[in-house]
Amino acid sequence: MFELAPYAVSMVNSRGRRHADKSPSHRSEFQRDRDRIVHSTAFRRLEYKTQVFVNHEGDLFRTRLTHTLEVAQIARGIARALHLNEDLAEAISLAHDLGHTPFGHAGQDALNECMRGQGGFEHNLQSLRIVDLLEERYAAFDGLNLCFETREGIVKHCSLENARQLGELGERFINRTQPSLEAQICNFADEIAYNNHDVDDGLRSGLISLEQLEEVTLFACHSADVRAAYPGLGGRRLVHETIRRIINVLVCDMIETTAGNIARQRPKDLAETRLGRPLVAFSDELREAQREMKRFLHKNLYQHFQVLRMTSKAGRIVSDLFSAFVSDPRMLPPQYQEAGDQSRRIADYIAGMTDRYAIKEHRRMFSVGEI
Ligand code: MG
Repeated sequence: MFELAPYAVSMVNSRGRRHADKSPSHRSEFQRDRDRIVHSTAFRRLEYKTQVFVNHEGDLFRTRLTHTLEVAQIARGIARALHLNEDLAEAISLAHDLGHTPFGHAGQDALNECMRGQGGFEHNLQSLRIVDLLEERYAAFDGLNLCFETREGIVKHCSLENARQLGELGERFINRTQPSLEAQICNFADEIAYNNHDVDDGLRSGLISLEQLEEVTLFACHSADVRAAYPGLGGRRLVHETIRRIINVLVCDMIETTAGNIARQRPKDLAETRLGRPLVAFSDELREAQREMKRFLHKNLYQHFQVLRMTSKAGRIVSDLFSAFVSDPRMLPPQYQEAGDQSRRIADYIAGMTDRYAIKEHRRMFSVGEI
């Protein structure tokens, strides 16, 4: 029987939900959180939102949905190996990108700029806003009414100014304590997933080449292993064999390093894992190797001129829409015209759009040929 470590988040030490809710009969509270997330509207929209490549650029590139599933799969494996709460790790992973705007970071940067002076826009906080407020599925409360630990895991980073407005969820940023180990794992799983799938998608798109990647230590040493084991292997199989080895080595390193940190610190309960330095970590060697990979992707993929053209266009779509709605909020769908902070409602509306919906909406608003 699978046993949770005493410092894992559990139904016994959980800080519970904001609104009282009957306990589920055949699932744990965290399984219920996971199920609520999967049934949400924001979750389904992930399928049509950009990770790096705009959704319609090709059928084989990652979308936010497939990225999210990869993160969940990696996080669950690590949580289980460390006797932590796998259901919680899964719930956090599935929710971690719900607040992303259309067009990935380009969309977020544009929306943040539009919201400057009005609280800005940050996808982490938007994910929380979705699960706490914006989803309309339950009769008794707004949002999904998730457990504290799931919500805590969603807010990966946060400015001090925003933390002060988050109540108990903001405390850890002010007091500089750590989130649960399960939440820490999800952050690393996110990083492992995107670095590796961006290499894969980057190669598939032709924007980066195998030759370029051979300059990156992590890639070079594993592709050399593959070539030694399978002389003459090339093409997609070489790429996939290399990437799966890299993911495996990162996951194993993280499990071992974290297990070592836990053995040294010996936290006796959940509260003790929150103090001091984060226990979930890579070894120094792999942390540096990951950084090198990130630098490579930043320089050669995210800053590639073709990607920049896409991000610049995406930014324009978002800011055009925002300005049009600010200049005349009557053009918004009625449910977004409610009294209150109008610019925040506009940000909610735009952030909720999928890539293709935003493109279509932009065409409807600005193309004279189409009314
Ligand atoms: Mg992510």
